[in-house]
Order: sequence, then C-alpha cells, then structure tokens
Amino acid sequence: MSLEITFLGTGSAFPSPARGASALVLRREGQCWLFDCGEGTQTQLMRSHLRAARITKIFITHLHGDHIFGLPGLLCTLSLQSSPDAKAPVDIYGPLGLRSFLWRSLELSHTQLLFPYTVHELVPTPDQCPPEEFKDFSSWDVGEGVPRGPPGRVVHLDPGEESYLLVEDEQLEVRAFRLFHRVPSFGFVLEEKPRPGKLNVQKLKELGVPPGPLYGKLKSGATIVLEDGAAVSPRDVLEPPVPGRKVCVLGDCSAPLGEAAVRLCRRADLLVHEATLGDGLRDTARQRGHSTPGTAAELARRCRARRLVLTHFSQRYRPAGDGDGEVAELRRQAEAVLDGQEVTLAEDFMTIEIPLRK
Ligand SMILES: [Zn+2]
Ligand SMILES: [Zn+2]
Repeated sequence: MSLEITFLGTGSAFPSPARGASALVLRREGQCWLFDCGEGTQTQLMRSHLRAARITKIFITHLHGDHIFGLPGLLCTLSLQSSPDAKAPVDIYGPLGLRSFLWRSLELSHTQLLFPYTVHELVPTPDQCPPEEFKDFSSWDVGEGVPRGPPGRVVHLDPGEESYLLVEDEQLEVRAFRLFHRVPSFGFVLEEKPRPGKLNVQKLKELGVPPGPLYGKLKSGATIVLEDGAAVSPRDVLEPPVPGRKVCVLGDCSAPLGEAAVRLCRRADLLVHEATLGDGLRDTARQRGHSTPGTAAELARRCRARRLVLTHFSQRYRPAGDGDGEVAELRRQAEAVLDGQEVTLAEDFMTIEIPLRK
C-alpha cells in the first residue's frame, strides 16, 4: 500500500515563480489529503501528477494568509469541474475561525459549491501565541438571523492526551497538537495502525488446518477448533504484525507547546518542519514565530524521527541550482544537529515515498 507526500508550495509569506505558498498532498489508497492551501495551490496541483478531484480531506495548520488564501478558489474550481453528486464530500479541519472565513468568502462571491463539505474546527488555547495577537473567534457568526456556515464538529483539546483526535478508522488515526506561532498553529500526525502479519502456510499445514474459511478466521484474530478437537490460535500461525507508518506535518511555529509533539511524533517515518530562516537569524525567526534548521532538527532529534524534511523557506533562499546556494546551507545547519543524518530540503513538486516498515 503506497503512501507518499508531494510538496506543492515550499515558500513562506507569498507565492513566487520559484516557490509556491504552503501546500502539500499526502496520497494514500488513491485518496489525496491536502495540508494547507496557500494562494496558487490549485495551479500547482494542475502542474503536478495529482488529481484535485481526489481530495477528500483538507487540513489547515493556521489562519495566516499564506496557508489559506488558496482554499476558497480551490473549492470553487473543484465544484466547477465536478458533475453534481459525483464529487466525494470534503472534510476540512482547521483552527476556529476557518468556517467563518470560508463561508464569508463563498457567500460574498456568490459561490455555491456543488459538493458537500464540512468544516471541523479545532479550538486553540490562548497560550499558542503572544497574548496581544490572540483573537477569540468563538462568538463569530453566532446569534439570531445570522446565516450559518457549513456544518461540522468543534473539537476541543483533550487535556489528558494534549491533542485533538480528528480522524479514526480501522486503518489509521489523525491527531493534531499545539504549536506556538504569531497566531495559534497546529501540527498533524497521521499514524497507521499495525496490520496483522501474513499467515504462515507452512505452519498451517503442520498443524493440519485445511485451506479455506478457517484461514480467514485466523487472520481476523479468532481462535479455531479443528475436527480432532485441537485449538489453533492466531498467535500460532501469524507472522508478527506489520507496524504502521507515521507522518507528521507541522505548521508555522517557533516551538511546539508542551511535550505532546515529542510524544506523538516519536519515531516518525517523516517529519515535515518549517525552517523559514537560517540559524544565523535565529532571534529574528523566533520573534516572528518561526523556526530555523537548528530548531527543527532539535525536535527531530528529540523524537528520533527517521527522516526530517524542511520547508516554508523565506523567499530569500533560492532553490538549489538556481543561483546562489544558500538553501543548501540550511540543510547543513540541520544535519549538524542530527550528527550528519541526512536532511531533505523540500522543493515544489518533490514527491517522497514512505515505504512500509519491515
Ligand atoms: Zn507561513
Ligand atoms: Zn504563519
């Protein structure tokens, strides 16, 4: 089962010809999940190998324009290109206020989407940004006579887990955790559940289990009883379970809040972290609520991530091979913290496959 991510925009603040504004797509089982949707994301999608119509979930890390200005336009185009009732519903997850932003943008522009969509809002805590920047959007669009935006859940922080459970099914789980930025920002963790190991056919034969429905029962975890009265448990005939993969995508931040990030991202196969400015500008980065390669690598080291990918570069850093090589310097700064473990610098349209764990 393939799992891959494709970067559509790797620049901070605004899109440029060299780097689009923030967006990446995670593709799994033929479905595309979009993380952030900066201005121009829809044209970046068209230039990629991905199909926008496959998008079924959208996750927004925070409400800064370079992460959301592309969203109303993308939804509008998806609607124009889909025949009624053909487009799968879209679930959108993001900070409180996102529903209002979308609803107002669509309402003011007389846009009606032809497919159902739902906005699930995460309620941030005031300590996710400087006190003077915190705005409480909980009273927006409340009251008599105010038209309603699309429906959806309002998800509060689970204080015990220090996270927000957003998606859970038999195969995987998606949680969000809090980050500190100029406005409340979130990171997302997608974690696959372990899958039962393969049946060991040799052992099945030795134990005298006849091929057929009994195989399926064992595979699903049930103990069976043979004609001679002998019991066979799944433990006897199943290979060890296949561990799930873990992908973490963090929004803009100068630091995670609390210890949840380290716990949730532990042994991540892929950790996508912003590195807006180089380590030489660490103080400026922190003042603006951003990270440097050193900050990002420090988190990767603490959670022992298998692979760190840096993105959200200030437009001052040109892509590699495009004039001065400053962006390569960012990689060296991160690798210095990780004792030389290889660090990847994201580029627009770069695709990274996450192989199954052995
Ligand atoms: Zn940003
Ligand atoms: Zn931001």
